[in-house]
Amino acid sequence: MYFTLLGPTGNHDAHLRYLGVGRAGLLLEAGLDPMRDGHAALPRLGPLEDHADYYPVDAILLSHAHMDHMAAVPVLAARWPHAQILCTEATWRLARVQLCRHATLWAEAWEAGESQDEALYGPADVQELEARVRLVERGERINPIASEPGLFLTPLDAGHILGSCSWLVEHEGRRLFYTADVCGRPQSVIQGAVYPPQPVDVVLSESTVAWSPRHAALSRRDEIERLALALREVAAVGGSVLMPVFNMGRAQELLFILHSLKRKGRIPPLPVYVGRRAWEIAQLYDHFATRDRRLLPDFKFHETMVDVLDLEEDGVELEGSRIFLVPSGMMQPRSASWQVARQLVPLPLHAIFFVGHAAGGSFAKQVMQSESGDLLDFEGQRLPRHCRVETFLFSSHSSLPELLEMVKRLKPARLVALPGRKDSAERLLEAARGQDPALATELAMPGVELDLSAP
Ligand SMILES: [Zn+2]
Repeated sequence: MYFTLLGPTGNHDAHLRYLGVGRAGLLLEAGLDPMRDGHAALPRLGPLEDHADYYPVDAILLSHAHMDHMAAVPVLAARWPHAQILCTEATWRLARVQLCRHATLWAEAWEAGESQDEALYGPADVQELEARVRLVERGERINPIASEPGLFLTPLDAGHILGSCSWLVEHEGRRLFYTADVCGRPQSVIQGAVYPPQPVDVVLSESTVAWSPRHAALSRRDEIERLALALREVAAVGGSVLMPVFNMGRAQELLFILHSLKRKGRIPPLPVYVGRRAWEIAQLYDHFATRDRRLLPDFKFHETMVDVLDLEEDGVELEGSRIFLVPSGMMQPRSASWQVARQLVPLPLHAIFFVGHAAGGSFAKQVMQSESGDLLDFEGQRLPRHCRVETFLFSSHSSLPELLEMVKRLKPARLVALPGRKDSAERLLEAARGQDPALATELAMPGVELDLSAP
């Protein structure tokens, strides 16, 4: 087995890795950089570009349906037309919604002169992929590649979002466990990750938030308590709250949290507005409720009270207290969260509560770091920020202690850390060596091949 990290690199956030197993080649992930436009967002193929013979691609494994992990799949599938696409049914259903939407927005941006490149795929290309998708069940051990009969793959629940999985890769007695995005503890709707039952030889692990002491000390219950108190305070003065969220995963977790806080009377019965896409995805969460591992299998989003925000029809109505749970999480200019923020920021009774990560350079990061009274630039309209701004942690990634717990359970001889935020990978490796001094540790570097065949 040999492994090459292709992304993310230091300044490009598209996830893509290559795993060679015997005669077979697997692409792990197929992401776009969500902060980039057009072709610049595509993952960089690095050595795969120049040495196609050395890097056959028999299958593209999708771990989950976040854009930075799968939105380049139509492009990569066209480049390797014989590769199958392996993912869970929920991941494919979510990916299909996201890909069609992305293709439409990209085409519109090109026509409006707002994208530098013409869209590389359209909804019809996404539909055509359907025939190449092989749906996998979590826990099912499969031998997907005819030319390499010794290769077995088992997807296991990654606990990150609906449908997400990690992969156990077995070949000639060697066992490798690969996590893309993994969450070891239960969130509010979905349960925590499942790991292989026996020890493995190699763990290839994400490290996204391993740098953060706040994540390490995080108690979800305390964070929900803090959010409830803050919401009560804003509602008491008649203010409204904006929570910028990604459509998939965080939006549904927060929708559930708000619903249960209202039901228990811990926050007033404020109207909650969600984006149309997040609401469609919530219906998919309902569709898979009984087949997925859920904390409350009987809970259904369609039984909760929400309003779908249609900005073009309704505008932003701030009469009375309201909660806006709307995209984009990064508050990209003209997105729903950006438009709601433009109405909220000048008035001190309103609030913006961040419930997820904001990338450096994003408008969300600027707002998050602003002081009261700072001017925020809404595409030329400069408004003073007087509204309240708070950050809450509702991570869907394992913290450092949770990653260490996973390593302890899997007892690998070797741990390879994939880069995360800041110095996450180095922190994970150092702490893992502290836990087990005999453990061989390595940092995956972009474009550098690691031979994982030996201990
Ligand atoms: Zn993710």
